Amino acid sequence: KSIATDLNPSFYKMVEYYYHNAVRVVEPSLVEYLKKHTHMSEKKRKHRVSGILQVMGSCNSSLQFEFPLQRKSGEYEIIHGYRSQHSVHRLPCKGGIRFSDEVNLEEVKALAALMTYKCACSNIPFGGAKGGVAINPKKYTVAELQRITRRYTLELAKKNYIGAGIDVPAPDVNTSGREMSWIVDTYIKTLGFHDINGAACVTGKPINGGGIHGRVEATGRGVFLTIERFIHSKEWMDLIKLPTGFEGKTAIIQGFGNVGSYAARYLHEHGVKIIGVLEVDVNLTNPEGIDPVALHEHMYRQRGSARGFPGARECGPELLAARCDILVLAAMEKALTHHNAGSLHCKIIGEGANGPTTPAADAELRRRGVLVLPDLLANAGGVTVSYFEFLKNINHVSFGKLSIKFWRDSNTALLDSVEKSLKESSVDAKIKPSPIFQTMMSGASEKHIVNSGLEYSMMNACDNVMKAAVTHKLGLDVRTAAYITAIEKIFVTYDEQGLCC
Ligand code: GLU
Repeated sequence: KSIATDLNPSFYKMVEYYYHNAVRVVEPSLVEYLKKHTHMSEKKRKHRVSGILQVMGSCNSSLQFEFPLQRKSGEYEIIHGYRSQHSVHRLPCKGGIRFSDEVNLEEVKALAALMTYKCACSNIPFGGAKGGVAINPKKYTVAELQRITRRYTLELAKKNYIGAGIDVPAPDVNTSGREMSWIVDTYIKTLGFHDINGAACVTGKPINGGGIHGRVEATGRGVFLTIERFIHSKEWMDLIKLPTGFEGKTAIIQGFGNVGSYAARYLHEHGVKIIGVLEVDVNLTNPEGIDPVALHEHMYRQRGSARGFPGARECGPELLAARCDILVLAAMEKALTHHNAGSLHCKIIGEGANGPTTPAADAELRRRGVLVLPDLLANAGGVTVSYFEFLKNINHVSFGKLSIKFWRDSNTALLDSVEKSLKESSVDAKIKPSPIFQTMMSGASEKHIVNSGLEYSMMNACDNVMKAAVTHKLGLDVRTAAYITAIEKIFVTYDEQGLCC
């Protein structure tokens, strides 16, 4: 059965479909690329391109294991853990660990593939991986969760599936800095005891444990920055007949966890009215606007429940289809299918979750003139700031004011000397430091550096994807453009590295 007609494909099949869809478009230009770089015949070039694309689409390796847990009650239970490394063309490979009933090997493989393409699309030099434990964390005590996390880490370490140069997990659904702390502690006290970069075996850690300011907000911030880049582009807004800018715009947020709540906050700060929030236990609406900070605080007090929030009234799931300018999908995969995509009344969708739109829903949305900003691009903020944290850890520095002074002093000297030697060598060039570099030199705080680095990175990724959409005449199909941007980048690496040992 073709995936285009399969209305309920597995998540893995969905990612495969999107990948092959992009391959179909980009393959001829990759054959052209080889023409410029090799002397192969056309037949050989085609053969090489199709070989590389085949390798690029497959999952490198997966780990699946089971271990026992003795519950507080004394009962024994078998816990199922997974980790997939989709691509190792760049090392370490990178991706979160989720705790959810739904976790299975197929899902983890699909998510690992998405990580590969996501990192490449945003120019983050990591391969793609993902892991998970098939539990509903709400059913376990904190002590049990700690034991599960530690044993999971040991299983990864035993099989060489964790380490700064190998594979670096991060938070994902139902995991946070707390679990990352347990992971790093287990690793450095056991198999990673000799690893000088032990702290870099995982990102998303609490600040005190080697984390970085701005990581918690990063994914939501990336969703916002992606929407911002597109909404300010007249060309793109003309395509969907929407005035540019945030002024007067409304938004609905599906999923008010770490990603959705921060995306809502930044949209709200920029004048967007949040008229609805869909959560697992309740849906909230207020045409006058919901205050995301107040809702966040309410949910914190209510141990994660949005129920009883005084700033909105409860409503049914039809809220998803209500008229609005921006819909942020920040819940789970396959939130939009052929069942509900046709009834939506939004103009822009920002995919904060991984894989929230099935191919059938995606096609329907395009047909209806909705601009979908895909996961690959829109939720890359998390891994981008993970990269900053990783750099901080492996360099054994902090990005605070003190180290900035060091950076400023040493780099000013470096810049001066490069500029001087350029002048002397009569090369007519002016060094233009990137905004991140300028921020670093200005003595800014770590948070400032992270946020401006993230902004710079998201802006570049958006512009590259926009360019690919125009070059390949893709219209509103930003998803295919994002995959193409990723494929082109990974292709060059594979081509240069060669395929076999
Ligand atoms: N779990 C996040 C994602 O899906 C972050 C991954 C990371 O930081 O490695 O992108």
